[in-house]
Amino acid sequence: MKLATFRRGGVHPDDRKELSKDKKIESLPFPEELVVSMSEHLGAPATPTKKKGDAVTRGEVIGTANGYISAPVHSPADGVVTDIRKVRVQSGAVSDAVVIKCNPEQSNPWTEKHDWRKESPEALLSIVKDMGIVGMGGAAFPTSVKLTVPMGKEVDTLIVNGVECEPYLTADYRLMLEKTSEVLEGAMIAAAIVRPKRIVIGIEANKPDAATLMENTIREKNYQVEVVLLKTKYPQGDEKQLIKAVMNAEVPSGKLPLDVGAVVCNLGSCYAIYEAVVYRKPLIERVITVSGESINNPKNILAPIGTKFSSLIDFCGGEKDDAVSTVAGGPMMGFAIYDEDTPMVKGSGGLLVLPKLIDDFSAPCVLCGKCVQHCPMGLQPNKMFRNIKYGNYQAAMDLGLMDCKECGCCAYTCPSHLPLVQGFKLGKKMGRKKK
Ligand code: SF4
Ligand code: SF4
Repeated sequence: MKLATFRRGGVHPDDRKELSKDKKIESLPFPEELVVSMSEHLGAPATPTKKKGDAVTRGEVIGTANGYISAPVHSPADGVVTDIRKVRVQSGAVSDAVVIKCNPEQSNPWTEKHDWRKESPEALLSIVKDMGIVGMGGAAFPTSVKLTVPMGKEVDTLIVNGVECEPYLTADYRLMLEKTSEVLEGAMIAAAIVRPKRIVIGIEANKPDAATLMENTIREKNYQVEVVLLKTKYPQGDEKQLIKAVMNAEVPSGKLPLDVGAVVCNLGSCYAIYEAVVYRKPLIERVITVSGESINNPKNILAPIGTKFSSLIDFCGGEKDDAVSTVAGGPMMGFAIYDEDTPMVKGSGGLLVLPKLIDDFSAPCVLCGKCVQHCPMGLQPNKMFRNIKYGNYQAAMDLGLMDCKECGCCAYTCPSHLPLVQGFKLGKKMGRKKK
């Protein structure tokens, strides 16, 4: 069978998914304390609406959205606010956080089902917005903004991103196996909002059981949805590469998927949309894969937002003696974590405990050109890095720095182990500042 894919660049890292792919989703017992950041999403942080000493109930708004590209934050637990303090999240951003001491008993107010087919697209969109749904693949872009189709634009294809191409991560894979109907219903709700001509679920070929289960469920429910099997290749799950593979369309530099008639919705977000619209349940918990060679018992865990990474590590039986680095996210795009009490945010899909440091040495560039060959965006990482190193940020921007997806393919192939992605992150920040 011919598998769809993108053509330019990409790499084939060992996927290491066998460590956790057979681990069913387990619910974490409520931690004693949650640290809920107001910067759970791309865009302006939310504004806390609670103060120290206030009681909070599960699902109540504790932070209001601050502008168009922002999202409200809800309490993941019943409890009492013990502090409002600054916290550093996995991306390194510092924001206000509401610290909640959780009650020993927790309520579950989301038992009544609502028939979404009776609602207008505008009403469905407004529920998605009010429930604080964001992209759960890592970027955490507010989903309501993504599902807003401007006047005069039409959506050709709604693509559900079930690729999960980062090594080790299996949270979306488990959702496909264990919450198949719910994920599909979430996709149908998203489709009712954006009214596409075609609905596609993109799944990598290394998850054939998930693809078969999806296809069978689609047939049973008589949905007009196609499953497209994709070549196992990193970064197949990146929006632009996925659109190229599924629609054979290129999103031009500086443009959005909508400009080529595409809306891409992460599979975990489809599940969150289902819970939000059918049960009116805000995004207060998510599935996260905790894996890596140096964790005792890798798992897929349903945990409240604001759970400290240390609680997840304890739930997995702790770290092995050879543990050296902790990474939030996958090994290609994740962030090294120096404080294991860093709290989970809505975009936290993975936590890895690894026996060695990633990029533990670096040497000068040997001009091998591998980074250029493997960049899926067709950039020249070596030249951009050299310019950033010498403070020539504008020159790096002229080479297309802002198109860099920070996918890590260049760094993965670089024989000199140059910290290319860190350089590009810094270059973007400095370039914007200078502008
Ligand atoms: S991190 Fe940026 S420069 Fe490097 S391969 Fe990915 S898109 Fe290209
Ligand atoms: S892969 Fe590394 S060593 Fe090779 S050209 Fe690129 S930056 Fe230089």
